Amino acid sequence: MSAEERLQTIRAQVQRCRACPLAAGRTRAVPGEGPAGSAVMFIGEGPGYHEDQQGQPFVGQAGRFLDELLGCAGLSRAEVFITNVVKCRPPNNRDPEPDELKACDEYLNAQIEAINPRVIVTLGRFSMGKFIEGGRISQIHGRPHKLDGRVVVTMYHPAAALHQPALKTTLLEDFGRLKQLLQQTETPPDLLSTPAAHKEAPPEQLSLF
Ligand code: URA
Ligand code: SF4
Repeated sequence: MSAEERLQTIRAQVQRCRACPLAAGRTRAVPGEGPAGSAVMFIGEGPGYHEDQQGQPFVGQAGRFLDELLGCAGLSRAEVFITNVVKCRPPNNRDPEPDELKACDEYLNAQIEAINPRVIVTLGRFSMGKFIEGGRISQIHGRPHKLDGRVVVTMYHPAAALHQPALKTTLLEDFGRLKQLLQQTETPPDLLSTPAAHKEAPPEQLSLF
């Protein structure tokens, strides 16, 4: 199966999934979208109101800010894959529960495996928590970590800036540095060729910034 076909299969599975309580409250599941060959993958938290209505990730206010941030990183939405740690909207946008994160994780893992992105950008603490255990976003925002043969960059969630205006500048700066990082990692081989690290191991930080 091609990566594109694998993504389509995951998409269909997500759309009929009832593996956790979030299935009951959804209008539409939001599997995520973007090209199978994306070099960069963005992982948010979960669908909000508009995402749930439309079945697409980051189409509300946070999504508009994400578009601006992508621009700062020299990226367009059309060339990246965007998804979330949970594919169905939590009631009233509450935080996802551990059992929901666990149930949905297989879809995210399958998407990562199909796309095999060079860089994963986590948006917010739930997405960060998948890769970096015990990390504090206030301390590690914007930082690249070498993990499992790729680079994981931990960003604040764009919606955080809508509530805390000071974070807007932080996010704009962090995405500006992401642009440099993407340019540096454009040329393999040495940056990403270290042996796979284990999740349990302390994340090795690149000395790029
Ligand atoms: N916030 C998220 O984390 N994901 C979305 O898709 C939209 C808003
Ligand atoms: Fe299935 Fe994930 Fe939706 Fe839960 S959130 S029902 S695990 S697709």
